[in-house]
Amino acid sequence: MKIEVLDTTLRDGEQTPGISLTKNKKLRIATKLDEIGVNSIEAGSAVTSVGEREAIKEITSQGFNAEIVSFARTLEKDIDYCLECDVDAVNIVVPTSDLHLKYKLNKTQGEMLNQAVRVVSYAKDHGLAVELSAEDSTRTDIEYLKELFKATIDAGADRICPCDTVGMLSPLKSFKFYKEFINLGVPVSAHCHNDFGLAVANTLSAIDGGVKRFHGTINGIGERAGNAAIEEVVLGLNTLYIDPITKDKKYDMDIKINQLYNTSKLVSRLTGAYLQPNKAIVGENAFAHESGIHADGVSKNTATYEPITPELVGHKRKFIVGKHVGKSGLQSRLNELGIEANEEQTQEIFNKVKELGDKGKTVTDTDLEAIAEQILEIDHENKIKLEEVTIVSGNKIRPTASIKLIVDDNEIIEADVGIGPVDAAINAVNKGINDVVKVDLEEFHVDAITGGTDALIDVIVKLKLDEKIISARATDPDIINASINAYLNGVNRLIDIQNK
Ligand code: MN
Repeated sequence: MKIEVLDTTLRDGEQTPGISLTKNKKLRIATKLDEIGVNSIEAGSAVTSVGEREAIKEITSQGFNAEIVSFARTLEKDIDYCLECDVDAVNIVVPTSDLHLKYKLNKTQGEMLNQAVRVVSYAKDHGLAVELSAEDSTRTDIEYLKELFKATIDAGADRICPCDTVGMLSPLKSFKFYKEFINLGVPVSAHCHNDFGLAVANTLSAIDGGVKRFHGTINGIGERAGNAAIEEVVLGLNTLYIDPITKDKKYDMDIKINQLYNTSKLVSRLTGAYLQPNKAIVGENAFAHESGIHADGVSKNTATYEPITPELVGHKRKFIVGKHVGKSGLQSRLNELGIEANEEQTQEIFNKVKELGDKGKTVTDTDLEAIAEQILEIDHENKIKLEEVTIVSGNKIRPTASIKLIVDDNEIIEADVGIGPVDAAINAVNKGINDVVKVDLEEFHVDAITGGTDALIDVIVKLKLDEKIISARATDPDIINASINAYLNGVNRLIDIQNK
């Protein structure tokens, strides 16, 4: 059975508090959504602003396979703005609960129904496909809701969507609720919010109840607690509904599952809405193993503690070295870092890691390498060294950094500006090492270890070169020194790994 996806990352997702996307960012996300096979892209709400309309127009001009949709209220002027953007379809949202009718609009059920019929006809007369979304459906009188859907279907609505706007369903309720609408003659979509952490569960239940389309967002972003996370619903449908005898999948979708991780990454980078590590499917820890027994099981057969392989969604398995690490987990990590230790040396490294763990310290890759180097007595010569750094910064000048680096035996002097002094310093360093290596800075964290303004500053960076990602760290009372040192520690390690 085919299930279709309407992605509303660019509309409901953009309504996440603190998220506002530029035209260019919207286009990049839409391009990716089209590439991974989303059926409909709700690109925004055309009435919002000139900039929003420009972004939607840019998206509709790309000739994507996906249907491009704009949100509209039950007003003719909203439909006019949608037409101006050349969208394929409109998602007309009709508030239906007494709460919304009375407090938001001061309208009766009858008035709202007539207005909805009128605007649906208007949109159809202008050649638009119409999805009719009833807002706050799950707190609406069900007889009125059905009457409204029937009347708007008669007026030409192509699809209907009873929305669980504030997440009031439970999985069992969702199954029964959505079942009520599947025989009205048009496709039905589920639209579930995550106020009680049930958006994905309720969406799956709606599909169990017969719904063939669902609305969701990448990473589950959206107003308040967000919408149903597309990657979770898709993997649920792909993995949890397999016939035990025939092994046939009950549902199929057009989504390219192996692109979900990098799509998630793109959306979190462009929106600035980062994920908690334990986020299902796409979180950084979704396929990470630390504890000894688990890591040992996974290294023998990944199915022991992984319901799906990370490769299925384009993610990667990670073994984290911490105080719960087992010998085989440690061994895998050492292999990944290119460190060859014999059994005795591995035991020594193992003891040292446990010792640090008991002191409450997380063992980063850098720490692990330092420990291993000490035990294996590897001489470690950094290829790139910082000799001098000078920063000029203040309230009326552009932060500027000049640096002197030693790369092998050559002296390199560079300068650059930045948003702030740290940015300027890293920009200058990048200029200096540009000919040697080009790394991507994936994450940058600053922590003040002790209290006051004289605190020790701890900087952790995550750097990427080709497909290798490493974290590195440095501590210094001076934030610039800590930042450059953490950065160069990582760069030097990446160069070492590359040369191995
Ligand atoms: Mn919504």
